[in-house]
Amino acid sequence: MIQYNFAGKVVLVTGSSRGIGGAILEGFAKAGATCLLHYFDDPKGENRRDAEQHAEKLRGLKATVHLFAADVRSPEAVEGLMKAIHQKVGGLDVLVNNAGILRDRTMRKMTLDDWRSVMDTNLDGVFHCCKQSLDILRDGGRIVNIASIAGIHPFHGQANYGAAKAGVIALTKVLAKELARRGITANAIAPGIIQTTMIGDIKPDVRADYERQIPLGRFGRPEDVANAVLFLSSEESGYITGQVLPVTGGWY
Ligand code: NDP
Repeated sequence: MIQYNFAGKVVLVTGSSRGIGGAILEGFAKAGATCLLHYFDDPKGENRRDAEQHAEKLRGLKATVHLFAADVRSPEAVEGLMKAIHQKVGGLDVLVNNAGILRDRTMRKMTLDDWRSVMDTNLDGVFHCCKQSLDILRDGGRIVNIASIAGIHPFHGQANYGAAKAGVIALTKVLAKELARRGITANAIAPGIIQTTMIGDIKPDVRADYERQIPLGRFGRPEDVANAVLFLSSEESGYITGQVLPVTGGWY
């Protein structure tokens, strides 16, 4: 494993209590970053319990971890999030936009709510977080947006998700141009199929069929995405910006 050193760097990963975001923040924790664990507080408090549990795990790795709750769909909540981060730790070095949802349905069955909820979370959420972070993101910083291979080659039933992720890719390329003068890079990652609760339980025969189509022969692990994020957030990747890195096992 590559040994990155993010000591002294402050990293925010949205949606980092579980799944891909959880693994990304764990990667930063192992590399010595100050970790800002963000979650979406639901009325039952279940997400907060998950977030606190994950924070404990990261603290066990000797990381400094601060928890923040915000609904990325809300511009006011995201503005409050960035203000709270500024007050607590003074600024940000790395922003990873990971929070996202999936509501796949064929166009005929897709409701307006299916469309809007995915656009609100997966595209507007990234817009709010990028925009509101600009004042606290330090020069020389990094933005890494978790898009999807569906933003390049969308699948059946993914009009909402594919459109939102394609939007994230376009937004990333614009940010790269606009922020270059501050030495801030902006890149996107396009994961293929990564084993998390988002993809749920897949029937064994369907899974085997997908695995046959993936050149590397397996679904991705959250750590596969985390490794790519750490690289694009590192000092060493400073001349790479406006790019989309597929993490798909060779599948598209
Ligand atoms: P999970 O469902 O495991 O995690 C999603 C995360 O997003 C959760 O932490 C959740 O927070 C957070 N979230 C959802 N809605 C909101 C909201 N309104 N405000 C704040 N946070 C929110 O999914 P994955 O880990 O699989 O996915 C992470 C990212 O990777 C997503 O952007 C997804 O589109 C992308 N991706 C995933 C792939 C896969 O195969 N799994 C493939 C390609 C891309 P909480 O836990 O607090 O509810």
